[in-house]
Amino acid sequence: MRARRRARRSRRYSTGVADCVFCRIAAKEIPASIVYEDSDVVAFKDLNPRAPLHVLVIPRRHVSGLAQLDDVSLAGKLALAAARVAKDAGHGESFRLVVNNGAGAGQSVFHVHFHVLGGRTFSWPPG
Ligand code: 5GP
Ligand code: ZN
Repeated sequence: MRARRRARRSRRYSTGVADCVFCRIAAKEIPASIVYEDSDVVAFKDLNPRAPLHVLVIPRRHVSGLAQLDDVSLAGKLALAAARVAKDAGHGESFRLVVNNGAGAGQSVFHVHFHVLGGRTFSWPPG
């Protein structure tokens, strides 16, 4: 990438990471089916849904994983947004919240996200 383009890009991602797919979704650079957003949080449908309801809730600012999230207020906002997304989709009484932290636990995108899953029954323990 040419230097000027790179500089322009990194200015746009002042609170994010230029090659992070979820930062790019939050910045509306990559299209996504957004179901909820506010100044701190964005929620959008998963590209490869594992349940009739499968939404990802992310902070706008880049945090690589739950283990790196040190903002109590932001953690609460993510949890409340997840419950709201489930409720708005008609699954407010029965849904599952999943956070994969680290590659060994199945994390593949290193921008923290809460999976909100609903609309079917879930087994326990998860695989
Ligand atoms: P993880 O494996 O990190 O817990 O979950 C990452 C999730 O992000 C996966 O369920 C995957 O389908 C989803 N995902 C990856 N890239 C994109 C994308 O570009 N758009 C959307 N909407 N979801 C994505
Ligand atoms: Zn990011």
